[in-house]
Amino acid sequence: MDYDVIIVGAGPGGIFSAYELVTKKPGIRVAVFETGNPLDKRKCPIDGKKITRCINCPTCAIMNGFGGAGAFSDGKYNITNDFGGTLYEYIGREKAIELMKYVDDINMRYGGEGTKLYSTAGSEFKKLCMQNGLQLLEASVRHLGTDINYVVLENIYNELKGSVDFFFRTPVEHIERMEGGLKIDYKGGSATAEKCIVSVGRSGSKWMESVCSELGINTHSNRVDLGVRVEIPAAIFSHITEKLYESKIVYRTKKFEDQVRTFCMNPNGIVVNENTNGIVTVNGHSFEDPSKKTDNTNFALLVSKHFSEPFKDSNGYGESIARLSNMLGGGVIVQRFGDLERGRRSTVKRIEENTLRPTLSATPGDLSLVLPKRILDGIIEMIYALDKIAPGTANDDTLLYGVEVKFYNMEVELNEKLETVVPGLYIIGDGSGVTHSLSHASASGVFVADEILSIE
Ligand SMILES: Cc1cc2nc3c(=O)[nH]c(=O)nc-3n(C[C@H](O)[C@H](O)[C@H](O)COP(=O)(O)OP(=O)(O)OC[C@H]3O[C@@H](n4cnc5c(N)ncnc54)[C@H](O)[C@@H]3O)c2cc1C
Repeated sequence: MDYDVIIVGAGPGGIFSAYELVTKKPGIRVAVFETGNPLDKRKCPIDGKKITRCINCPTCAIMNGFGGAGAFSDGKYNITNDFGGTLYEYIGREKAIELMKYVDDINMRYGGEGTKLYSTAGSEFKKLCMQNGLQLLEASVRHLGTDINYVVLENIYNELKGSVDFFFRTPVEHIERMEGGLKIDYKGGSATAEKCIVSVGRSGSKWMESVCSELGINTHSNRVDLGVRVEIPAAIFSHITEKLYESKIVYRTKKFEDQVRTFCMNPNGIVVNENTNGIVTVNGHSFEDPSKKTDNTNFALLVSKHFSEPFKDSNGYGESIARLSNMLGGGVIVQRFGDLERGRRSTVKRIEENTLRPTLSATPGDLSLVLPKRILDGIIEMIYALDKIAPGTANDDTLLYGVEVKFYNMEVELNEKLETVVPGLYIIGDGSGVTHSLSHASASGVFVADEILSIE
């Protein structure tokens, strides 16, 4: 065998697997194959001047490369079983929290020290939510910020590069069973190992599907979350964000009893484009560095859509809606809440006259032509519910960017060790469908590495 362990994907799941393997067992032969670039070579061409919109690079620098989708994220590590994945269903609630804390300790040692850990426990805000038909989920939130997150990744990479063979710009094409292990093929070569950990995230979901079908691994898929990113003056939410930073609030709509939730809150942050498989959607960032802070706060409002038989392609449904916004707006659409409520599109003039300045250059338009009525109704209801705990949320000048889609990878059939029916093949992180977050993906990486080391 060329290696003891091959890891496919250098996102948080893959990185923490590699870290755990080489720190717990020095001398172990580990290789990491990654489609994207090393961290210092990851550069999105959008500069706001010559290139203002996504140009669909063959490999997206935001989603691929060392650090994975999390590299330029806001670096919010949520230590909780309430959201971010269902790792606890496989490894138990206590173990999941223990591993998320373990990951947090490592992040602190590699440059995160001094960053804030927020907690929703015992907050008076919980009561205020309850009184207004909203539910605040429990979590401890470590906010590294995009800048410190980068430093942590850089430091971890410097630690690993002497003991791990990294193959960047090397997408793995196939995985095959072989006597005593697995073989992976990539353009121009192949490599073998006793064990293989696959952590290809959301961007690798299509490839993951083909691997599962080739190797006879069962998968299930039935969920997609759709919605908008809301941008408001930071002052409107400051009483919440200063105490909790990230609050996950859930609302059950009166009309359809659908669940709408806040997601990825970025106090004093910016709204950004995201490219998933060539489709431009919206997301948000924020920074620890005071000089990079803006006067706006943004967060997503998402409605979960679960499909039942016979429909199986929930991600295809989400993609089609995102494509519709791309078709109408050439990318992301922005609309004033007041315009949406009046049943009219936003125009360049209306956005220019808006008191709130948008942090993303998006095409003014009409989100009601893009989002299904049921989803849009749910979002509008929730904006009014949030207005009760943060007056001003439902102001006319509130900006809505669409669409935001949270794709869920199909769930891969795994045992309690996160191993597939193919012996020695482990699937972790967002690519497994088990996790949807930095903390859960990282914890799944540590878990599987420990499992492998315990067998050796
Ligand atoms: C803009 C943005 C902001 C976010 N903010 C947060 C946040 O604040 N908090 C939070 O908890 N989560 C956040 N997330 C989600 C978080 O980034 C992911 O949950 C996390 O990165 C998942 O880790 P992963 O290792 O499973 O996959 P990924 O991070 O997606 O990494 C997978 C890696 O595998 C590589 N790959 C794919 N296919 C192949 C192949 N065939 N061969 C080789 N390599 C391959 C990819 O290039 C990628 O680098 C954010 C995501 C985005 C996009």
